[in-house]
This record gives sequence, C-alpha cells and structure tokens, in this order.
Amino acid sequence: MRKIDTRDFRRATRTTSREINRRIVLNLVRDHQPVSRADLARRMNIGRGVVTSIIQELIGEGTIYEGATGHAARGRRPTMLYVRTQDRLVVAVDVRFSRTFIMLSDFAGTQIALESFETTLAPELLVNELSDRINLLLASHGAHGRCEGVGIVVPGMVERMTGRILVAPQLGWRDVDIRSAIADRVGLPVSIENAPMACALAQMWLGQRGNSSDNFVYVTVSDGVGAGIVLNGQLIRGDSNSAGEFGHVAVNPDGPQCLCGAHGCWEAYTSNQATLSRYLGKELSPIWGQSTRQAVPLTIEELIARARAGDKQAASAIEATGHYLGVGIGGIVNALNPSQVFVGGEITGAWDMIEAAVREGILERALTRAAASTPVVPEQVGGYPRLRGATALVAAPHFAAPRVA
Ligand SMILES: [Zn+2]
Repeated sequence: MRKIDTRDFRRATRTTSREINRRIVLNLVRDHQPVSRADLARRMNIGRGVVTSIIQELIGEGTIYEGATGHAARGRRPTMLYVRTQDRLVVAVDVRFSRTFIMLSDFAGTQIALESFETTLAPELLVNELSDRINLLLASHGAHGRCEGVGIVVPGMVERMTGRILVAPQLGWRDVDIRSAIADRVGLPVSIENAPMACALAQMWLGQRGNSSDNFVYVTVSDGVGAGIVLNGQLIRGDSNSAGEFGHVAVNPDGPQCLCGAHGCWEAYTSNQATLSRYLGKELSPIWGQSTRQAVPLTIEELIARARAGDKQAASAIEATGHYLGVGIGGIVNALNPSQVFVGGEITGAWDMIEAAVREGILERALTRAAASTPVVPEQVGGYPRLRGATALVAAPHFAAPRVA
C-alpha cells in the first residue's frame, strides 16, 4: 500500500493502462525469452490481439525483436521474441579513489571494451580526461551499435534529480557537478549514481540476475563499504539520497578511525584498506588518505594470493574481515529482513576462506532463525559489479514500471 504524495504525483491519462501493459510485456519477454505471443497472452490472461499489437509497438521502437521459430505440439510453429540488447550500447564509468574504469557494453551488460586510468581528483581535469576517452572509445567501437547513454558510479551521495555529487569523502568532493559538462562534451545523456545503489539496480535488472527477489541488500566492499537496499522491488534512496550508508554505522565507537572522521565504523573494519592495514599492522587512516595519496604498498588481490600461498597472517587478516562482514550483515538482516544479501568487491575472491567466518558473524547477531539463515551470495570474481551498475543506470529505466499516482 503506497500513500499518494499530493505534492508530487503523476495523474493517469487515457494511455496509462496501455503503457503499464507494454512494460509488463517487455519484462515478461526479458524474464522468459525466447517466448511466443501465445505464451505471453496466456501469462497475462489477455487476448492474442492485444498482445500482438503491443508487440508490434515494441518491435517498432526497437526494444524487442523476432528470432527463430519455436516448437509447437501441433499447428504452425510460433515466432519467438527476444529483448533487443546487442546493438544498444552503454558507456559505463566507475570512478574510484585509486583508478577510474570505463567499459563499453551492450544493454545486457556484455563487455565490448574496457580501459582504466589513474583517477584525477580535480573534477575539471577528470571531466576532460573522461570525455576524451569516451569519445575515443565510441569512435573506435561505434560499429557495434548505437550508444544510448553514459552511466557513472561514484563513491558518494548523489542528488537524484540534478545528478550533483553531494559528498564523496574519498575523492574530497562536495557539491560537484560533472554530469552536465560530460553530457555536453560527449553529446549523450549522462546518469550518475552512488556505487552501491547502482550495484543493487544491476542486480535487479541485468541478465539472469534480473530474476532475483524484490527484497535484497547489495553490499559493496572496496575502498569504502556501502549498501544498496531494494525493498518491494524499489531502490531505497531515503529523504536526501543517503540511505544505505551502513559502512558508517559504528561497530565499536572506540575502534580505529574511519576515513569519514568517526571511529569504529563498519567500513573501518571491512574495507580493503582496513584488511590491508590489519595485515600490515598500521593504522587505517593516514596510510593512503586522500590528501597524502601514496603508492599502495599491497593490493587486496596480492594479500589474498599470499594467504593462498600459506601466509598465515594474511589468512587471518582476511578471515577477520569476514567475521566483521558477518557482524554487519547480521545487523542489516535484523533491520531490513531481506531475502538475500549480495556481496560485491575483491574480497569475494577469498570467499572460500571467509565464508565460515561471515556466517559465524551473522549467527552472533541475528535475532531470529530465519534471519540467521539469510543467504549471503558473493558476486562472481572479475564480474565488475560496479560497471554493471553503471550500465544499469542507462538500461534499467527502459524496463521500470511507469510511475503513476
Ligand atoms: Zn566512517
């Protein structure tokens, strides 16, 4: 039951019901492809004629296409329908404190090209470099299809309507607009989003994973730690776009100082930096803080490799991160009761080493048996979840339910 906001609503028009049915058809094709018109009519419990005319519109606007014919028990073999993704392109950008990644992919998130460069922290310089690289990428791979937009994920809070980055502590940004400048220079619509929120969107919308449940939390573990929350099929943004900052919930108010300035945040125990600091026996904050960016002495991937090669200290540093991850996830599970928790980030490369510790941490905190048994699903390694999130920013709105009332 959703309350109608009398200050911000969309009234229904004569075409509203058709608009809704079109999106239902598009989503049914996406979930069940290849699928026939007869099958769609059955699933929607409406006449073949209505389905056929909606399909005609969707083919006309290029969102679905007719493929091979399928099998039929008797009579004419039906023409099967598919969502069109291959020749619709997206430029996905992941701006991180350490490096910025650019991927050209299709609407399904399939990678066509990938490159990265060291992040320039001055916004104007980053805009220049990004725009030049995006233009070059499109010039050399444009033959793959038509690019429909640029999606950018950042480690910070983003104002939804304007795309302004309200605050990105790791980058040292406060109230920064890079969207309009990049849009001008590449001539494409640009969407910007907080990285964990975008990862949750990708989980909801892209590929096979699009079938995951309507209630889940996506935890990203990288330079920072954050969460994208989806409840009732909707990404939760909060009143001023900052929902999901579980990374800065205190695990221990007397704990190590976090990059946000406070002490003992969940992030200060579980981020890649936190894991490396634990191993190196150094304090977390000034090792490679934003003002003193130094060469990172060791990467999380190298640490995992050391643990696999028998380095006991490396293994215990990683396992401790697993335990703290579990403690925090236990809190999230208690608070939101998701059906699943996804974890993305390099640490998933060590999942076999930390899974038991993660589950133990959850068990310590979970209030109910159901909460304690909530599945925690690691992202596949090398899957670039943040870039998939950036892709979803452009692709997902085409599938979303139209907003009414
Ligand atoms: Zn913090």
